[in-house]
Amino acid sequence: MPTSSFTSASSAVPCPVVESLDAILPEEPLLMMGAGPVPIPAAVAKANAIVINHLGGTMVKVIGQVKSMARYVFQTNSKWVLGVAGPGSAAMEMAISNLAWEGTRVLSIKNGFFSERMAEMGRRVGARVSTLDVADRAVASLEEIAGAIRRERPEIVTVVQGETSNTVWNYHLKEIAALAKAAGALVIVDAVCTLSTMPLEMDAWGIDAVITGGQKGLSSIPGVSLIAFSDAAWERVKGRTAPNAHWCLDASLAENFWHNAGYHYTAPVSGVLALHEALRLVCAETLEKRFTRHLKCSLALQDGVAAMGLRLYTPKACRLNSVVGIEVPEGFSPADVCSHISRMHQVEISGSFGLPIVRIGQMGEQCREHNLFRTVHALGRTMVDLGVKVDLPAGVAALERGLSGGK
Ligand SMILES: *Cc1c(COP(=O)(O)O)cnc(C)c1O
Repeated sequence: MPTSSFTSASSAVPCPVVESLDAILPEEPLLMMGAGPVPIPAAVAKANAIVINHLGGTMVKVIGQVKSMARYVFQTNSKWVLGVAGPGSAAMEMAISNLAWEGTRVLSIKNGFFSERMAEMGRRVGARVSTLDVADRAVASLEEIAGAIRRERPEIVTVVQGETSNTVWNYHLKEIAALAKAAGALVIVDAVCTLSTMPLEMDAWGIDAVITGGQKGLSSIPGVSLIAFSDAAWERVKGRTAPNAHWCLDASLAENFWHNAGYHYTAPVSGVLALHEALRLVCAETLEKRFTRHLKCSLALQDGVAAMGLRLYTPKACRLNSVVGIEVPEGFSPADVCSHISRMHQVEISGSFGLPIVRIGQMGEQCREHNLFRTVHALGRTMVDLGVKVDLPAGVAALERGLSGGK
């Protein structure tokens, strides 16, 4: 007869002793001014605390509104907008794995770490991927891109709007899409860090798939992302014969939930509600005003950093405004700067995958004047503390001039 009871049984794996979150997290949250995630508005945080049924009338209404607001943000009338449970990279993988398969010719314009990720995902589904390798801190010319398209005859071209890693902006995205389109290729655009921070017109520019994450320009939580397919892209998704090896990311299965009020997998309901609120705030502000706010704040930040005596990493012509790259002074590592500013000033900024820079984000809630003053001050104080000669008052003055329009 078994003698053990639940109370006397000792587990083979003992229960660990852990600290509570209150003990681990700082009393006051750090100001998130890195390359994402970014601070979230109160309405987003509130929505993120709610769990509702993932199926049924309320969810259907929420999903319908998320799609229609996303269409505005993507600037598309395409029906084929879907949410994705997962990071921006999951949306990226949904785009690649549904549109490319064994033998598909893919041309990836590679500006750095994130645009290379699309090439890697293409290779993993068996596509024949060629890359157009672009020098650091530069964009490919349209002649180079046209040449690569002539040479490779791609069925799909992948390109990033803002390469967050080295802070390069592919400013002629519209022309790149036109070149690809003219050659009969579908265009996939990674707009993870740029969507709702600067213009992107999916329909007018002829883009076939746009992906974005929640935790950057949209100022929602990480882990719920968005994707939009054009009609032409959706036709390719529906016309494929080889099944997608990714079950969760299969767009045809996701259609069940996102378009037919059915079940695919249990959606991250709280995150979808958070995204709904984030999108609602974008709509309330309007894209025009949001772009203006982002531009003004980012340029003022760049002026402030430069006036302090630090150097911006990327030349002005192709400088990304959504994430600003700053050279780390000789003798210091990005980690020295990031850990000091976090520990001493409670401001989080980012390093960048081995590049000698730190990065300050200008996405969504990061583009607020009070956040900028605190960040520029904290960066300047950090330099002073580390023994780097900077002119902090000049930096703060330049920031103020930029934000007040020089008045
Ligand atoms: C952040 C980012 C990604 C990756 O997003 P995750 O949510 O980390 O997967 C991809 N592309 C760009 C341009 C990004 O900025």
